[in-house]
Amino acid sequence: MSWVEGAAGSPYDVHNLPYGVFAHGDVPARIGVRIGEYVLDLDGAEAAGLVLAGGALREPSLNAFMALGQAQWGTVRKRVVELLTDPAHRPAVAPLLHPLAEVDLLMPFAVGDYVDFYSSEQHASNVGQIFRPGEPPLLPNWKHLPIGYHGRAGTVVVSGTPVVRPAGQHSTGDGPGYGPSTRLDIEAEVGFVIGLGSALGDRVPVEDFRAYVFGVVLLNDWSARDLQAWEYRPLGPFLGKSFATSISPWVVPLDALEHAWVPAPEQDPPVLEYLRDEPHLGLDLRLAVDWNGSRVSEPPFAGMYWTPAQQLAHLTVNGASVRAGDLYASGTVSGVRRDQVGSFLELTWGGAEPVALAEGVARSWLADGDTVTISATAAGPDGRTVALGEVTGTVLPARP
Ligand code: MN
Repeated sequence: MSWVEGAAGSPYDVHNLPYGVFAHGDVPARIGVRIGEYVLDLDGAEAAGLVLAGGALREPSLNAFMALGQAQWGTVRKRVVELLTDPAHRPAVAPLLHPLAEVDLLMPFAVGDYVDFYSSEQHASNVGQIFRPGEPPLLPNWKHLPIGYHGRAGTVVVSGTPVVRPAGQHSTGDGPGYGPSTRLDIEAEVGFVIGLGSALGDRVPVEDFRAYVFGVVLLNDWSARDLQAWEYRPLGPFLGKSFATSISPWVVPLDALEHAWVPAPEQDPPVLEYLRDEPHLGLDLRLAVDWNGSRVSEPPFAGMYWTPAQQLAHLTVNGASVRAGDLYASGTVSGVRRDQVGSFLELTWGGAEPVALAEGVARSWLADGDTVTISATAAGPDGRTVALGEVTGTVLPARP
């Protein structure tokens, strides 16, 4: 347990140690690690020789550190645990701690390529029923490969960044219309952040997942359903999603989630050889979605049909390389029950069944001024909890 005040026994004790980037007063962006309700300045710690990473911790983003690979991630984590648990280090380390309330949390890494998958069977079949009524909810390829698309890396923003309501084309039922989206939605997802890069032409096999993936963020794939419904065929999501994607400021290293792996749902029919992961494991992350402070859903990540190792193997099976900072998201996380879905499209069944958020306040879609916050927890060692922080955003009116 940590000597840092309030950290011992909290979900942010030394079993967690998520990385982020923060600014403090006149101090520009620098790397830190969260301990309790403080952030430890790792730039300052490396400058003082308290932890060594070849200068990678003295950068304004996590990319260089993540690119060092698994052995270095482990070495730094072990050293940070020593610094925060051994009281002998307290005099040197305590001045490098800043209360979270006094810092601004920034984008933790520069996003390289961004991919979004579609790996919840329940979500895919709900969307199929809503968007293509009368047709089979799952398309014939869905159980053979993790469906995904390349998204827009440059509009991935950190939690707290306001989201301007997008405008664009929609269908009027009699040709195109143009205007602010009237069906603005969220997608509660989990993002995986690449650390180690691969070479162009190489594949990353399922068993190498942990060598390449540094950690996990929470992600909100804001979605304008009216734009999406009009534009998505035949090439998939485009402007209905590219206006903003929010991520949590803390990247939780996979090392903190060792106790959260559980058997993933059995896959039937059997998948091709390159997608076969043995053991077939998913992460038991328990998500929660709050809409203007009302808890509307608790999506269970453990039920995802495709695992993050299968997703990485698939997105590189053609020889496409990955780089430090690449981000791939799970797809909307939805469970079987209505109070476990990860989008308002499903929660209100296409807008037809509004939800009550508070006395006299009902919603089908996001209104200007609405705030959505996605949070998550997982099991840690010795019955402890690992918190993944939160990703939040407030909707601003469309620009005139
Ligand atoms: Mn999505």
